[in-house]
Amino acid sequence: MAVPGWGDIYDELGVTPVINAIGSVTLLGGSQTSPTVREAMERANSAYVPLAELEDKAGGLIADMLGVESAYITSGAASALVLSTAAAMARDNDDFVAQLPDTTGMADEILIQKKQRYHYDRTLNFAGAKLIEYGTDEGTSEEDLEAAINDKTAALHYVANEKIKDPSVLTIEQVITIAQKHDIPVIVDAAGQVYPTENMGKYAKLGADMVAYGTKYIGTPHSAGMVVGSKTWIDRVRLNSFISFEERRVRGIGRPQKIDRQEIVGVAAAVREWLTMNHEERIAKLDVKLTHIERAVTGIPGVKVEADRDPTGASVFNLFLTIDEKVCGISENEVVAQLKDGDPPIWTRVNPYFGGMQVGMVGLNDGEEQLVAERLVAVLKG
Ligand SMILES: *Cc1c(COP(=O)(O)O)cnc(C)c1O
Repeated sequence: MAVPGWGDIYDELGVTPVINAIGSVTLLGGSQTSPTVREAMERANSAYVPLAELEDKAGGLIADMLGVESAYITSGAASALVLSTAAAMARDNDDFVAQLPDTTGMADEILIQKKQRYHYDRTLNFAGAKLIEYGTDEGTSEEDLEAAINDKTAALHYVANEKIKDPSVLTIEQVITIAQKHDIPVIVDAAGQVYPTENMGKYAKLGADMVAYGTKYIGTPHSAGMVVGSKTWIDRVRLNSFISFEERRVRGIGRPQKIDRQEIVGVAAAVREWLTMNHEERIAKLDVKLTHIERAVTGIPGVKVEADRDPTGASVFNLFLTIDEKVCGISENEVVAQLKDGDPPIWTRVNPYFGGMQVGMVGLNDGEEQLVAERLVAVLKG
């Protein structure tokens, strides 16, 4: 295997390590830390520090690097979203912070475009908010949004996607303009919008108040993330955090979403590394892997091969295989299953959004593309 000692520790525990040919998915562990991030985290272990101060300094550093007002490190993008909804409902009221998820007396509706409903919107009602759809399956107009806003509206949610822009949904600019007219905060899920790197500050600069990122996509442990935005709203996020629970004895909803000081230090190190690294080199390495597998599977009868080399966002550089079972003699799901059954297991998936079998490059260690290509060809040629 390409990495010496690959998977040893898991063997000791009786768990079979796998080759990750899906990407940055939580299912398989989400991310790999870089040597720089690992070193920063290791150094953080040797001393204790007041976590409130560490959060503020690390968040301040990140905010400066991104050119935004404020940033707060969280237990993943999911927690960034939960804490943002709590902030939107409780605002500066500590009684409300401690009362959630009971929202009595608070504006507690979060508005989302019907076409933007997605896997992670479960985070939005976790702190007690009600998720209210506006628009239809065909799309959304500004009038739809205006009509949906009322006294109970706590925030507007927006799902940022720079790669696949849907012209039938309102743009982030439209949502922000209307939100500001009504003095309502905008929460953005920008979890994977980490490249081009300008996108890590973009939505906050446009006027979004709380913008969530998953730092699993930039090489921290996958349990970390952050929310960036305006000072007013990030301060309110902070009131709901696990640190506030301990430091201020105000028992907010964020207590179970704890992170450790190593992770806080690791996120700051990862943001710095991500903003200063040579991304052409990073992308070129992904391209080498993709091209190797693409060449190996191109020309197999019944297999249509599409390579996605768009570097926008996270978990990029994917091969999509559409398999004609009648010609190839095997279905996409069976190919996925056979790869998983091999030794070592190779995990791919039938992509739930685009259809077709997805082979992703981001989770592959250097050299693993050789084995993936070999085994894929063997299974497809049966
Ligand atoms: C991964 C992801 C999340 C959840 O982020 P975590 O950091 O895993 O909590 C939310 N939204 C989107 C779009 C994601 O890709």
